[in-house]
Amino acid sequence: MHCPFCGAVDTKVIDSRLVAEGDQVRRRRECLACQERFTTFETAELVMPRLIKQDGRRQPFDEDKLRAGMQRALEKRPVSVEEIEAGIGRIKHQLRATGEREVNAMVVGEMVMNELKQLDEVAYIRFASVYRRFQDLNQFREEIERLSRGGQPDE
Ligand SMILES: [Zn+2]
Repeated sequence: MHCPFCGAVDTKVIDSRLVAEGDQVRRRRECLACQERFTTFETAELVMPRLIKQDGRRQPFDEDKLRAGMQRALEKRPVSVEEIEAGIGRIKHQLRATGEREVNAMVVGEMVMNELKQLDEVAYIRFASVYRRFQDLNQFREEIERLSRGGQPDE
C-alpha cells in the first residue's frame, strides 16, 4: 500500500479492526518515510459474475431461474427443499469463488449437473438431456446405462 501523501512503498499497520459487522477491516497505517497516517478499508469482493450466453449476450446471474431449473429436473423426486437449497448455495459459492466478472453460462450448467448427479440420478439425466444436448440417442442411452450400472459418466 503506497503512502497517499508521499508515494512511499513502505507503510506499517498501526491498528486493525473489524467494522461493518465484520464485513470490513479498517486499518490505520503510518508511512515509514513521511510519518503521515491514513486509513484504509478492506472488503472482500464477492460479486456474482455475469453469465455469457452462447450467442454472446451477457446476463446477470438469476438465482430464481437456477432454482426453477433444478426444481423442474427434480419434480416428483425424493429430494428435500433443504437439499436443493444447499446445492444452490454451493453453486453460488463456486461462482463467487471464481473471482471472475463474467463466466460462460455453460459453466453454471455443468455445476448444476454436478449437484444433480449427487442429489438424484433421474433429475441429473433429465437436466443433462436438455442442457448437454446429447449428440444422439445412443449417447443418451449409454449415459443412462452407465448410471444404472452404478458407474460414473464420462466427463
Ligand atoms: Zn508518506
